[in-house]
Amino acid sequence: SGGTFLIETHPNPMAAGERETLLKNPGFGRVLTDHMATIRYSEGRGWHDAKIEPRKAFDLSPSTVVLHYAQEIFEGMKAYRLPDGGATLFRPGANARRFTNSANRLAMAPLPEELFVESVRALVRADRDWIPAAEGASLYLRPFMIATEAILGVKPSSDYLFCVIASPVGSYFKSGAPAVTLWASENYTRAAPGGTGEAKCGGNYAASLAAQAEATREGCDQVVFLDAVEKRWIEELGGMNVFFVFEDGSLQTPPLTGTILPGITRDSLITLARDLGLTVREEPYSIDQWQADAESGRLTEAFACGTAAVVTPIGKVKGRTRNFTIGDGGAGPVAARLKAALLDIQNGRAPDGHGWLDRL
Ligand code: PMP
Repeated sequence: SGGTFLIETHPNPMAAGERETLLKNPGFGRVLTDHMATIRYSEGRGWHDAKIEPRKAFDLSPSTVVLHYAQEIFEGMKAYRLPDGGATLFRPGANARRFTNSANRLAMAPLPEELFVESVRALVRADRDWIPAAEGASLYLRPFMIATEAILGVKPSSDYLFCVIASPVGSYFKSGAPAVTLWASENYTRAAPGGTGEAKCGGNYAASLAAQAEATREGCDQVVFLDAVEKRWIEELGGMNVFFVFEDGSLQTPPLTGTILPGITRDSLITLARDLGLTVREEPYSIDQWQADAESGRLTEAFACGTAAVVTPIGKVKGRTRNFTIGDGGAGPVAARLKAALLDIQNGRAPDGHGWLDRL
């Protein structure tokens, strides 16, 4: 419909030729499209002023709550090009629900979920020429919400700005290697029981950056975080969930205990694996067991998954006191099969048996 949104057309959109050049090699998150969606909230008025407008900078007071107390949440999702030239979102309602949960945890005004989905749809419609057609490329969408009241007292803001921006993207990992190497951090944890681990808030990512810098210094691609209490149980990566594949063909992934992000890719892969007749357990797995199973050959594959990373095989794990290889250190067949199953649905090449696509 798009009826909720006042659409302002861009007075000076990027020329088609320039856009095509950017779409050829977009990288990840560097290039933004012409428009943005915004909706404002204030106590008393509620949500108002939904619009699609030319993307522009925000004008914020230096005392704006988000700048001091990090009252901010976000989402990450993609629009895909379909074989008939159309476009689709993948499970946008699941992102909307997670956004509501994140808003509640950060004591922010929850955005009605239909409005979340409608804003993303309206932005993709306005910027549909920005969806790359190349295999593996897509239009990454970043809905987010910031606390906009200008006040230094520590309390939930009375005003919020919800915004969606879009960025054409290729693959997340630049290296092009068949598998990534993880750094098992002993110095840092990501989320404690009762904390914000299952919310998608900027603060979680700010807190992960020193660990990610440590990983990069150690020649690794991503951090694998362990639980904050026993420092033993595998939780997730800095921006992805994790799966393990065993010799008997079964899969395992850490359970959603409140300290990890409930990934929509994770949830979709559990369903797709079960569709393929595979057993999937949501059970804790320790880093020591991971190493022992990789060394004995009981574990044959491990992979990371997320909207940005899709399905990315894990080849090696390093830490201050450990260094082990999974399988032959490259991509495994189960990860490849699940990745293909997911991409075939997202790109409209396979039947959408679970009703996951939202065609625009
Ligand atoms: N964990 C973290 C910490 C993440 O940032 C993400 C990316 N949103 C994921 C897992 C994967 O979630 P999704 O599959 O919904 O992208």
